Amino acid sequence: MLLVDSHTHIDTARFNVDRGDVIQAAVAGGVTRMVDPGCDLASSRAALALAKRYPGVVFAGVGVHPHDATTYSEEVGAHFREMAREPEVVAIGEFGLDYFRMLSPRDVQRATFCAHLQLARDCDLPCIIHVRDSHQDVMELLRVHGKGLRGVFHCFSGDVAQAEECLAFEGFYISFAGPLTRQGNALPEVARMAPLDRVLVETDSPYLVPQPLRAKRNEPLYVKHVAEKLAEIRGMTLEEIASITTANAVRLFGLVQK
Ligand SMILES: [Zn+2]
Repeated sequence: MLLVDSHTHIDTARFNVDRGDVIQAAVAGGVTRMVDPGCDLASSRAALALAKRYPGVVFAGVGVHPHDATTYSEEVGAHFREMAREPEVVAIGEFGLDYFRMLSPRDVQRATFCAHLQLARDCDLPCIIHVRDSHQDVMELLRVHGKGLRGVFHCFSGDVAQAEECLAFEGFYISFAGPLTRQGNALPEVARMAPLDRVLVETDSPYLVPQPLRAKRNEPLYVKHVAEKLAEIRGMTLEEIASITTANAVRLFGLVQK
């Protein structure tokens, strides 16, 4: 059984002491590939360096998270364009709109969002999109500027109607993370209706530890718990869900094993 963790921040400082062990444990447990999206220029560089160190296992995204949208500039975009030529870079992201924490002003987030869509278009790479309390705006900007692009709504957190709107964009997937394993959200319903060829699984580690794990820090190996929950909801085996979501991730990101 092989799984892909389609979204982990394994480059971050919380893995500094044991990053190699964590990656090894994931691979040994069947999570043989992972995508690490950058959140600003420095972490995009770190993700790329890691992908070069673990070829065929770690893959990188380059982008600026909406929290850090004010750090985006033409110059940063030029660096991303350059980095995107490397085969280890498989996506533009993560970028998006986060109106929950609103750590960057709304107009700056929107402008940075559009700049990333342009990057994805120019580099012919999929988008990794972060949406929080911003569904309407994301839909609007994608409708106007996202024609023909592909990508993933990472850590999908909306309801069935919103999932349907997201999936109306051909070439886009929705990705489930730890919240699927928790109570009190619409995600089981979304997981029940989503076309299986349009879903991915992820950890968003070190954040969002799945239940019932007591771990303080999430890690790529734990994507298994998300896949298990999805399998339970769909009345399928873990092996079936693993094989489907892995094929989806490979199709979207083109994850070539070395
Ligand atoms: Zn993330």
